[in-house]
Amino acid sequence: MHVVPPALDRLINDFAKLPGIGQKTAARLALYILRRPESEAKNLAQDLLHLHASIHLCRQCFTFSESDPCGICANTSRNTRLLCVVEEPGDQLVIEKTGAFNGLYHILHGVLAPMDGIGPDELKVRELLARVRSGTVEEVLIATSSTVPGEATASYLVDQLKKTGVATSRLACGIPMGMDIKYADEHTLAHAIRARQHIIEQV
Ligand SMILES: [Zn+2]
Repeated sequence: MHVVPPALDRLINDFAKLPGIGQKTAARLALYILRRPESEAKNLAQDLLHLHASIHLCRQCFTFSESDPCGICANTSRNTRLLCVVEEPGDQLVIEKTGAFNGLYHILHGVLAPMDGIGPDELKVRELLARVRSGTVEEVLIATSSTVPGEATASYLVDQLKKTGVATSRLACGIPMGMDIKYADEHTLAHAIRARQHIIEQV
């Protein structure tokens, strides 16, 4: 005999498959939905059903979008000479939120992970090189994470992009804003020293 009704149990197991959601959180979410009005559960189900039908990859930058090209690629006020390469669409959202970048994007959809069988062909690397060769791009800003796989992917991309003649840059790494340097780890501090910037006098 089931302790948990099978329909509820199935939903809990579905939620538990999501990243960062354990069995306890999954049960809490499923019970929350059960207690809410049925209309809310129907709306959620409809949104899930329409997700794959409505959202596709932009053929230019490979972000998730309802339109092709996506809103950013179609925006004529963006700087088409500057291209920012990120691992995931979520990284693009974070950079967009800063309002500090007005170029275009290229989404890799992952990082190199040879142990897991993820090489350049599994990422949008070929598409990136073709885009750089055929377009108006003058600089590629590689904004992969400063993790071991993120750095390895950046090094690989720098090597490949060299052959196209385009300039490459990397996000600066160092001390977070507002942080006392006493609390920075040695690796971060060493990186900040190597990537130091000259102070430009404000006029
Ligand atoms: Zn796009």
